[in-house]
Amino acid sequence: MARPEAIAAAFASPLAEELAEDVLERLLRYARIDTQGAYRVSERPSTDKQLGLSRLLVDELAALGLDDARLTDDSNVFASLPGAEGAPAVGLIAHVDTTPDVTAHGVAPIVHRTWAGDPIELPGDARQVLDPAALPALAERVGHDIVTSDGTTLLGADDKAGIAEIMAAVAYLARTQDGPRATIRVAFTVDEEVGRGAEDFDLDAFGADVAYTLDGSDLGELEVETFSAASMRVTIHGSSVHPGAAKDKLVNAVKLASELVLSVPRGRLSPETTEGREGYVHPHRISGNAEEAIVDFIARDHDDALLEQHLDLLRGLAEEVEAREPRAKADVEVRHSYRNMRPFIEENPRVVDAALEAIRRAGVEPRLAITRGGTDGAVLSAKGLPTPNLFTGGQEYHSVREWASVQDMAAAAATIVHLAGVWAESTE
Ligand SMILES: [Zn+2]
Repeated sequence: MARPEAIAAAFASPLAEELAEDVLERLLRYARIDTQGAYRVSERPSTDKQLGLSRLLVDELAALGLDDARLTDDSNVFASLPGAEGAPAVGLIAHVDTTPDVTAHGVAPIVHRTWAGDPIELPGDARQVLDPAALPALAERVGHDIVTSDGTTLLGADDKAGIAEIMAAVAYLARTQDGPRATIRVAFTVDEEVGRGAEDFDLDAFGADVAYTLDGSDLGELEVETFSAASMRVTIHGSSVHPGAAKDKLVNAVKLASELVLSVPRGRLSPETTEGREGYVHPHRISGNAEEAIVDFIARDHDDALLEQHLDLLRGLAEEVEAREPRAKADVEVRHSYRNMRPFIEENPRVVDAALEAIRRAGVEPRLAITRGGTDGAVLSAKGLPTPNLFTGGQEYHSVREWASVQDMAAAAATIVHLAGVWAESTE
């Protein structure tokens, strides 16, 4: 499609420009499908509706000629595009679910074509404004095509931008033949946002030698370091009595839970006061009644030993609840979800070098980054499949102000196409 010259200049490369409309069309289509996950559901996937998108992707991959496209028993979409004889198999992974924290029902994406740089007011909620004065990454993208929601839901670019980029790149690779390529193995997982994306992931069936998640953010970034992560549930058992006859009998679990939350450090060790490599503990949900109250925490650190210290701190605070009120009981349940991928990635420097080269070939300056989060790749790296995280061009994730640049998404799709070439060369 022909574009005015001034706009075309915003594309990182001709290949990115060629892929842009397909990436955008796919993002808009996938974003409208509600795939919101849920916390603390033992079934997998945590919500059936995630599979609506998974099944659609199986059909679309099959239509592109990837005949082994299938939904596996553990709810992953797997498909392959064979490459040159003897070339390595490169995995491309994204997740279909969106965060339980913000609704994804009735997503109505808006494309702000050739954005002129004014604050973007989201029409569904007057309070939601994307102000470039407060969003430096947005301010740098005057002239780009910016995609947002209408302000009442997520956009879901996390991670449907990643899915759209993989699909557009695979469609391109399937219809063109310009030199040797690596074999591509595609995986679309469920429940990444609740820390279970790579659970039961069958590495043998997937058959990749290396892999990349498309689940990052800013243009050109390759994330090679994640948090190590754990969650903790503290269940406080009190003793409920009719308040009219409660003197010396009532042990109010609601009050004890509140005390526990108030005893968590403020001014440090919290998401709202830390950045970079600093870890935190974060009470994110509280529920219950006078008889029993539950406080759910997450703990994060890039350093495994420090993560254990944070968990010990929370255990100590839970014990103090019991010490102050011996008639109460505070049960602590800890679950580790993923580990910092860095040591596993460092064992395979080529997985980083190839990605940096592919980003360069897409016309973008590459940058190594750390994430204050986790990815499916963190779990897969720990299981033996080195899986750093590539940028998608989506921003302000897990917010109704989520946005994505079409030009940046197109650069990510072009990076994937180049990855297939770079990995085929690296065996020569
Ligand atoms: Zn994500």
